Amino acid sequence: MTSATPIDPVLADPLPRRRTVGVNVGGVLVGGPAPVVVQSMTNTDTADVDSTVAQVAQLARAGSEIVRITVDRPESAAAVPRIRERLDRLGLSVPLVGDFHYIGHKLLADYPDCAAALAKYRINPGNVGFKDKKDRQFVDIIEMAIRHDKPVRIGVNWGSLDQELLTRLMDENSALAQPLSARAVMRESIIQSALHSAALAEETGLAREKIILSAKVSNVQDLIAVYRDLSRRTDHAIHLGLTEAGMGSKGIVASSAAMGILLQEGIGDTIRVSLTPEPGGDRTKEVQVAQELLQTMGFRQFIPIVAACPGCGRTTSTLFQELAETIQNDIRRNMPEWRERYPGVEALSVAVMGCIVNGPGESKHADIGISLPGTAEVPSAPVYMDGVKVATLRGAGIAQEFHEMVLAYIERRFGGGRAAAE
Ligand code: SF4
Repeated sequence: MTSATPIDPVLADPLPRRRTVGVNVGGVLVGGPAPVVVQSMTNTDTADVDSTVAQVAQLARAGSEIVRITVDRPESAAAVPRIRERLDRLGLSVPLVGDFHYIGHKLLADYPDCAAALAKYRINPGNVGFKDKKDRQFVDIIEMAIRHDKPVRIGVNWGSLDQELLTRLMDENSALAQPLSARAVMRESIIQSALHSAALAEETGLAREKIILSAKVSNVQDLIAVYRDLSRRTDHAIHLGLTEAGMGSKGIVASSAAMGILLQEGIGDTIRVSLTPEPGGDRTKEVQVAQELLQTMGFRQFIPIVAACPGCGRTTSTLFQELAETIQNDIRRNMPEWRERYPGVEALSVAVMGCIVNGPGESKHADIGISLPGTAEVPSAPVYMDGVKVATLRGAGIAQEFHEMVLAYIERRFGGGRAAAE
C-alpha cells in the first residue's frame, strides 16, 4: 500500500438490527427495541414437578431469561401450575413457555390453570392437526391465547413440516418451466407455513404483538437462507435456533456459525441453542453457549470474559491453563450472587497469558491480567490493572495471589466501596 492508497473502511460492527414488533413474554420483551433474549428448554418429564422445578431453576440461575417446558399429556398440564407456584416461592419469576404438539388445543381447554400459568404457548403448525381439523385446532389454541391474554410462538420445524403444503408446492414447482430445487421448495414451504399460520392467528383476533415466529432446520446453510427470507417477508418477532444441532462441539459450532451470521445481519430477537447433552450432562450448557455467542459478538454482556492464550511450545507447565480455568469457574459459580452484589461486573475482562510474547500486551488490554512465565523466562509474573503494571508475583503462590487480586479488584471496582465501609 502506498501512502496515497485510501484506507478501505471495513465494517467492524453488525448491521443494524431489523426492527420487529415487540412481544411481551411474561415480563420479558422479545423483539422491538429489546436486546436479543436467551432462552432454553428443559428435558425433564414435566409431570415430575420436583425435577422440572430443579432444572428450570438451574437454567434460570445460569441466565436463561425464558424457559420452555414440554406439555404433552394431561399429567404434564396438571403439573404446570404447581411448577409455576414452586418457582415463585423460590423467587424465580422466569417465564415458562408450554411446548404443545398434537393435543395442545385439548390440554389448554381442559387445564385452564395450566393455560393461565404459562407465559406463552408454542404451536407447531405441522402437527397441530391434520386435514380439515388442522386449521380448526390451530384456531382453538389461538382463541385460548386470546382468552388468557398470552402470546404464542408459531414454531415451524422441517422435521414436522405441513405435508399437504409441501406436496402442493412441490406439484406447483414441477409444473414450472424452470423448477426450483427440492431444497428450495422445502425452504419456501417452511416460510409459507409460518406466514400462513401468523395470518390465520391475526384473522382470528390475536394481536401482531402477541406473535413470534421460528422456522427451524438442521442444516446451517438452509437455516441462514430460511431466516434471511423470512425476515424480509415479515416484521414479526423472530426466534432463532438450529434444530437437532447435535452433541458437543458439533452442536456448538453449527449453532454458532448459523446464528452468528444471522445475528450479524440484524436478524433474530431471541435465541435457543439446541444442544444434545451427554448422558447425565449439564443442561445449562445451552444457556452458557447462547450467552457466550451473544457476548463474544458484542451484542450483550452476561459474565466476565477470561481471555487466555492457547499455549504453545513456550509453555512447559500447565499453570496458566489451570489458573484460567479456576478463575473462569469461580466467576461462573459466583455470578448469580455477583449480579446482585456487583452491578456491572459482567463487563469485566480478565487475561491469563502463558508467556512474554503476547502476555504483557494482552494483559494491558484487559481490566486485570497476568503474564505467566514461559519456558526459560525469569520465574516472575507481572500483573496489570487497567493497563498499568501493579505487581510482580513470584514463587509457588502465584495462582492463589492472582486469584485474590481479581476478587479484590471486583470488590473495589464494582462493590461500590462496600468493602471499605464494612
Ligand atoms: S502468549 Fe506465549 S505461551 Fe501463549 S500462545 Fe503466545 S507465545 Fe505461546
